[in-house]
Amino acid sequence: MDKSALQKELVKMLGKDKVLCDELDLMYYSYDSSFLTKLEPANPWAVVMPHSTEEVQQIMKLAFDNNIDIIPRGAGTGETGGCVALKGGIVLDLSTWDEIEEIDAKNMQVILRPGVIHAHLNKELAKYNLFFPPDPGSSQMCTVGGMVANNASGLRAVKYGCTEQYILGLEVVLANGDVITTGGMKARCIKNVSGLNLTKLMVGSEGILGVITKIRLRCWPRPKARGIAMAVFDNLDDAPATVLDVYQAGVLPSGIEILDSSAIQAVNLFKPEINLPEAEAILLFEVDGNPPSVEYEGQVIKEVAGKRARNVEWSTETKRMAELWEGRSITATAAARVRKDGSRIFAGEDISVPLAKVADTLRAIRALGDKYGIKVVNYGHIGDGNVHTAPVINPENPEEVERVMQLVHDIHLLAIEMEGSTTGEHGVGAVRRQYAEMEHGQAWNYMKEIKKAFDPKGLMNPGKLI
Ligand SMILES: Cc1cc2nc3c(=O)[nH]c(=O)nc-3n(C[C@H](O)[C@H](O)[C@H](O)COP(=O)(O)OP(=O)(O)OC[C@H]3O[C@@H](n4cnc5c(N)ncnc54)[C@H](O)[C@@H]3O)c2cc1C
Repeated sequence: MDKSALQKELVKMLGKDKVLCDELDLMYYSYDSSFLTKLEPANPWAVVMPHSTEEVQQIMKLAFDNNIDIIPRGAGTGETGGCVALKGGIVLDLSTWDEIEEIDAKNMQVILRPGVIHAHLNKELAKYNLFFPPDPGSSQMCTVGGMVANNASGLRAVKYGCTEQYILGLEVVLANGDVITTGGMKARCIKNVSGLNLTKLMVGSEGILGVITKIRLRCWPRPKARGIAMAVFDNLDDAPATVLDVYQAGVLPSGIEILDSSAIQAVNLFKPEINLPEAEAILLFEVDGNPPSVEYEGQVIKEVAGKRARNVEWSTETKRMAELWEGRSITATAAARVRKDGSRIFAGEDISVPLAKVADTLRAIRALGDKYGIKVVNYGHIGDGNVHTAPVINPENPEEVERVMQLVHDIHLLAIEMEGSTTGEHGVGAVRRQYAEMEHGQAWNYMKEIKKAFDPKGLMNPGKLI
């Protein structure tokens, strides 16, 4: 079936309001937030916006019978080219299918369709004093379906973990149109060890095994209080050492973030009134829970961090907490300021290393930046070793683009060498496939067999992850 015949068939099947075929509309879908799609944007053949499992099934059967690629897409905030068509095919835009079907507060869970925006879900759950803890920086934009497909997390993963820990069951439409329900057909339970755990398999599968059309997820009670501590260090090694000291003092903060000297400089250039202290590193600790425990843990952090830090400030006052946190919340945007004609690119941005190797990793990234003559801004979720690196370049300069791609490659290799991973949050997508074998060895071959079992024709999101 050629492109034009496919477009006609889709319009006949779904009606013209749910199908986009205009090249200008399709161009919008050739991008996500990755640098890759800025370098090599590619339009799909058609975009469809299904609003029922049956519609997804029909589309999948049509694609299966005619060997057409299927690319699921949420809000397109991914950093890996995961939701774009590399060689034509149908993009399934699930972002408008955004019903919260049921907040089952008495069973501490919620059932929803994939297009619900993360922040919107938490706004609705707050009415029941509940929340869905994973908290990506893209919370106001990204869909819960995209979070499940990417096993997203964020700065509170250190205490609350990643999306996978909350997913109780999924409805998934497979490449041949079959619909499966994982986690028990009728189940509303929280604990369930029956059968192979296909829910876990689907979480983080980046759209290569099937389309997630319904999500049953667990919610937690909302903490009543929070507090923030900022600690300033003259010696980089003292930052990870302090994180360990805090853990060993029996405190598990809900967030532990680092800004190294490059990030401190970027923030101060972007918004001088924040006036972060010049230092080798700043740590921000967030503690949440009930008011007495928050106050107690804050005092422990103050005392423990004070042994290595130049100074530590602790606050539970709303205005001051916002001020202390502001530098961290604008770091990603501020990064570009370290160079006048610079743009921050999302490539090699998400490595994960053991806590004990964070300082060495940051030093090695600085050395790589010097080697390639590229400024790199470093920050991240130090509590679980997830380092965000932000190369700042002039993307209009092809020679510089080539240089930064070498730098990014070396950053990925560095992560593996440091006993870490090339990605702690954002996934493999189209940009990190070449490292999979290095990271997984023989297990990689079994992953490929699993892919074949679900998608024998290789039509689900080809060119991604596997
Ligand atoms: C400013 C910014 C901050 C970010 N911060 C974080 C962060 O802190 N933590 C983090 O983990 N990520 C972060 N991200 C990355 C991204 O937001 C997350 O990975 C998010 O979960 C992607 O959701 P999405 O709806 O945009 O998915 P998309 O980008 O549309 O898709 C991502 C992947 O999921 C697949 N997919 C989407 N929906 C489905 C579905 N229903 N069924 C099957 N497959 C599907 C796609 O095929 C693709 O492979 C950030 C991105 C930006 C732009």
